[in-house]
Amino acid sequence: MNTPANALDMSSFWMPFTANRQFKKEPRIFVGAEGMHYTKEDGTKLIDSSSGLWCVNAGHGRKEIADAVHRQLLTLDYSPAFQTGQPGAFDMAARVGRLAPKNLDRVFFVNSGSEAVDTALKIALAYHKAKGESGRIRFIGREKGYNGVGFGGVSVGGLVNNRRQFAAQLLPSVDHLPHTFDLKKNAFSRGQPEHGIEKADALEGIIALHGADTIAAVIVEPVAGSAGVLPPPKGYLERLREITSKHGILLIFDEVITGFGRVGAPFASQRFGVTPDMITCAKGITNGVLPMGAVLASRTIHDALMVGPESAMELFHGYTYSAHPTACAAGLATLDIYEREGLLTRVKDIEKYYEDAVHALKGKPHVIDIRNIGLMAAVELAPRDGAPGARGYELLQDCFYNHGLHIRTTGDIIALAPPLIAKTSDIDDIFAKLGAALDRLK
Ligand code: PMP
Repeated sequence: MNTPANALDMSSFWMPFTANRQFKKEPRIFVGAEGMHYTKEDGTKLIDSSSGLWCVNAGHGRKEIADAVHRQLLTLDYSPAFQTGQPGAFDMAARVGRLAPKNLDRVFFVNSGSEAVDTALKIALAYHKAKGESGRIRFIGREKGYNGVGFGGVSVGGLVNNRRQFAAQLLPSVDHLPHTFDLKKNAFSRGQPEHGIEKADALEGIIALHGADTIAAVIVEPVAGSAGVLPPPKGYLERLREITSKHGILLIFDEVITGFGRVGAPFASQRFGVTPDMITCAKGITNGVLPMGAVLASRTIHDALMVGPESAMELFHGYTYSAHPTACAAGLATLDIYEREGLLTRVKDIEKYYEDAVHALKGKPHVIDIRNIGLMAAVELAPRDGAPGARGYELLQDCFYNHGLHIRTTGDIIALAPPLIAKTSDIDDIFAKLGAALDRLK
């Protein structure tokens, strides 16, 4: 049984991404989860409006995933990554490759989104080098981008809180595109905002400044997630693709959040009809139950690295737990569920309902913007004078203690991304609870 919060020894666990001192005064503890809900220690349930952390796409407690992992542990618990393999890794790569956009079916497994990003950046450098263009070493990320917490990901990312403690030690030779968020022109937009395609043209400026032959890759999230759900303006991703292709620069889509059905297609790339050269993914790949991530690389990139003597390693990179047997088993069982239940495309059927439900919060106290795409949405609140983030935190607490609702907040932005199994009644429940909490907010 779980220890109740008031009896927990809180001295050792240094919680990630958490205000630890504040948390210890007001611990919010989950002890169980099933379907659309988390359970608190008093047995009450909270509806999960964020799929855990954008990952539990098929809902919580899926028995067939648990059974597959259990079977795998009893059959082959671990298999070393060096020069040996296990069947699940090949099966999982082939399955993911079949879901990927055309030609992006060469799959390198890692254990997280952060590792996927750092791996993709390394592959980009190795690719250019293999082609004899070793001068291509610069990366271009985007303001407000979240690309994980590895040094590579923080360097190309554009969130000040992630960067400032490490600023002097980040990767050199990184530029950032301007973000596309524009509250004046695009507030309360539904789906892709009308304005902002011109922000992609800044890429031409950066290229002109450094020379195309110094630039390895551009990396963006097709829909920025952690910064608070910022869908790409119409035409923007297409324009990035056009410019990168023209200059021989690789385009990487960081789909750690958008991968596996979040926007109504296996990958956002397919929804937006723009094919990058690499995709990074994680989270939903195992329904969040075991750590796994992947880089999907184009055949062109992969094949360019398959050079030299056959006995040589083409890419000297990998992790002890790359393609871990249990993660592959969880991933295969997850993909079975996604495919059987149509979850990778289901969002198309409920997107309009979800959109109307979230936009019905317009006019609630302090709401200054609402935006959405697929089964992702953000409600942005005006910060309280002199206390940015205070309203977001108060809402989080009120939802947890008084409304049976689990929300994810980033400062004063509420990011909503329920499991893809959500019924319309679940969506109603989430927004009724959130609406009531907003009404009480000071
Ligand atoms: N990229 C994106 C777009 C993400 O949203 C995240 C995590 N939220 C990451 C990378 C990092 O993933 P992880 O936390 O698994 O390292």
